[in-house]
Amino acid sequence: MKILFYDTKSYDKDSFTRELANEPDIEVKFLKADLTKNTAELSHGYDAVCAFVNSDIGKETVEILHQCGVRLILMRCAGFNNVDLPMVEKCGIRILRVPGYSPEAVAEHAMGLALTVNRRLHKSYIKVRENDFSLGSLMGFNFYEKTAGIVGTGKIGAAMVRICHGFGMKVLAYDVYENPSLAGIAEYVSLEELLSKSDLISLHCPLTDHTYHLVNRDTIRKMKDGVILVNTSRGALVKTEDLIEGIRAHKFFGVGLDVYEEETPNVFEDRSDEILEHSVTARLLSFPNVMITSHQGFFTREALSAIARTTLDNVRAFEQNKETANEVKAG
Ligand code: NAD
Repeated sequence: MKILFYDTKSYDKDSFTRELANEPDIEVKFLKADLTKNTAELSHGYDAVCAFVNSDIGKETVEILHQCGVRLILMRCAGFNNVDLPMVEKCGIRILRVPGYSPEAVAEHAMGLALTVNRRLHKSYIKVRENDFSLGSLMGFNFYEKTAGIVGTGKIGAAMVRICHGFGMKVLAYDVYENPSLAGIAEYVSLEELLSKSDLISLHCPLTDHTYHLVNRDTIRKMKDGVILVNTSRGALVKTEDLIEGIRAHKFFGVGLDVYEEETPNVFEDRSDEILEHSVTARLLSFPNVMITSHQGFFTREALSAIARTTLDNVRAFEQNKETANEVKAG
C-alpha cells in the first residue's frame, strides 16, 4: 500500500513514523503541500492519500485523484465538511476518518480558552512581562455555581460537560440526541433556554446545513449579557460579522475561538511577515476580551498517537475490505 501524505508538519511525520515502524508493507511519502486541485495530480501511482481538516477535497480534486488511481482517502481528523462526498462516492473512492482520538484534548482546550478570557490570562501574561503588576482590567468571575451551556454532547461535548461539572457549574445541554452517559450531570433544554441561561456557552456540534451560523445576530440577542462564548468546533458555526457586532455592543464578557470562518489560509501557517489586508481575524484580535488559537484543540501527544494509530488501522480495514464505523458516506 502506497500512501501520499499531504500537508505534513514535523509532528505528523514523527507520530506516523513511530507507528509505521510496525507496518513494513505500508509505504508513505510525506509532502509539505496541502491537497488541493493543484496538487492532486501528485497522487499518480499512489493507492491512497492522507489529508487533513483544511485540505480542499472538492469536486475537481476528487476527480483528479480518481484519474490518478487513488482508491482511498484517509482523513487524519474527525471533520469532513471539506470533502465533496457525492463525488467521492461517484468515483468509487472509500473515505475513512478518525472520528474520535482524544475528546478530552479538545474539551480541555475549550476550558482553557474559557478560563483565559474570563481571567484575562492573555492580557496578564503580557502585562507582567512588561513589569506592569497592576490588576486593572483583569477582573473575572467565578465559574463555580455559574451555568455552562454545552451545544452538542457527543464525544467532545460530553467531555466538556464533565469538566464544567467538575468546576461546580450547573450544566445545561442541547443536542438533537440526548447522551445517556450525562444523566445526573447535565440537564437537556431547548437551545433558546440554554442561550438565555448560560454564563459560558461552548460549541461542540459538527458543521452541517442545520448548524451553519448557529450563532448569529438573532441567537446572540437571546444570550445573557456578559456571556462567555467558546468555539472549538468549526468556524462557520458562528457568523463572524454578527459576532463582531455583538462584541462591539458589549454583549460578551469574553470570546475564545480555536476556529473561525476565515481560518483556512491561516491554519498552521506562519504569516507573521505578511500584511493581512481586509482581515476579519485582525478585527477580532483588536478586542481585549477575545482570544484566538489556531485550531490547536486536538494538539496533544495522546491525540496525535491515536490519530496515527487509527489511520493505519483504517488502511488495514480497507485492505481487508472490512466494514468500519470510521467510513464516511454521502447522505
Ligand atoms: P460527535 O459526533 O461525537 O458529537 C457531535 C454531537 O453534535 C452529536 O451528539 C450530535 O448529535 C450533535 N449534533 C448534530 N447536529 C446538531 C445540531 N443541529 N444541534 C445540536 N447538536 C447537534 O463529534 P465530536 O468528536 O464531539 O466533535 C465535535 C466537533 O468538534 C466536530 O464536528 C469537529 O468539528 C470539532 N473538532 C474540533 C477539533 C479542534 O482541534 N478544534 C478537533 C476535533 C473535532
